[in-house]
Amino acid sequence: MPFTAADDRYESIDYARVGRSGLKLPKISLGIWNNFGYDRPLDTQRAIIRRAFDLGVTHVDIANNYGPPPGSAESNFGTIFAQDLAPYRDELIVSSKAGYTMWEGPYQDLGSRKYLLSSLDASLKRTGLDYFDIFYSHRPDPGTPIEETMGALASAVYSGKALYVGVSNYSPEQTRAAEAALAVHNVPLTIHQPRYNMFDRHIEDGLFPVLDDLGMGSIVFSPLAQGLLTDRYLEGIPSDSRAANSPFLGASNITDEYLGRVRGLNSIAQSRGQSVAQLALSWVLRIPQVTSALIGASSVAQLENNLAALDFDNLTDDEITAIDEFAVD
Ligand code: NDP
Repeated sequence: MPFTAADDRYESIDYARVGRSGLKLPKISLGIWNNFGYDRPLDTQRAIIRRAFDLGVTHVDIANNYGPPPGSAESNFGTIFAQDLAPYRDELIVSSKAGYTMWEGPYQDLGSRKYLLSSLDASLKRTGLDYFDIFYSHRPDPGTPIEETMGALASAVYSGKALYVGVSNYSPEQTRAAEAALAVHNVPLTIHQPRYNMFDRHIEDGLFPVLDDLGMGSIVFSPLAQGLLTDRYLEGIPSDSRAANSPFLGASNITDEYLGRVRGLNSIAQSRGQSVAQLALSWVLRIPQVTSALIGASSVAQLENNLAALDFDNLTDDEITAIDEFAVD
């Protein structure tokens, strides 16, 4: 069946400006790191992406290495884009990144000009897109001068292959250096993509004032701590869950101490009539410098549950204080 997007797709969720740029992102965006490789049914992937777009999620975040295997999430997105979303290209913000291992040899990862620009071309080919809306340096590379890494991002913009550029996993100091190196080329550093959730608060140590100073916004990844900040593990470890299957989230994370914390958060969530996942999203979005929360989802039901977080009132100061007891690194 050909896809026709819902007429009311812009009535459900809000969009926020990324720092002082002209770009707006939905308050919740969809990432396809997991659940979108060749190991998952394409029909499920297609249903999640279609539903997201129908609910106003205009931003899909990818990277060269997402899968498994690396590259397969871009290829699957390309298939779904060609089938369903190509007529809506101007309504979509699609990002990709380079930084992690993609092929053999000395130019396989990190931040050299050689690797970043080859990878960008390969990502465009896999997705079938003419350009990415945002292209990121996926991680800092202490072995390459920041001028070279940012020079490659500037080239991506000037060649028309990226509209905006960003950095991911950079420290506050590395972010300042990156912005200065790009400014030489008259290219703004628009967005930062750090990890941020109730169990990983490291960016509270200095990143937000830097974003304000530089006029940048942020999109925070793994706001649900890969599923730990949900009710997924309250009754055991489901066989189809990430903790049961992914090298990035082992079953060893599901400890009694963890369960105690998530039960505490669950009771706060219930007092607001929310799920833990919705509470966790309200919590990251309380920060003004957080433009968007970048979720993953393995089903349409999870996606819908997460987007409904935007229907609730902001957290009160008392609720934020109560959460602090459980929201520790
Ligand atoms: P989340 O923290 O949102 O975790 C997503 C997982 O949580 C899902 O796969 C699912 O687990 C579970 N889940 C989601 N919603 C619910 C719900 N309502 N109820 C119960 N369980 C739920 O994000 P991710 O870790 O997936 O990361 C999101 C995106 O961030 C990535 O796709 C990627 O785009 C980006 N990212 C960027 C990185 C970077 O270095 N820049 C690194 C990591 C991620 P299950 O599969 O078990 O059902």
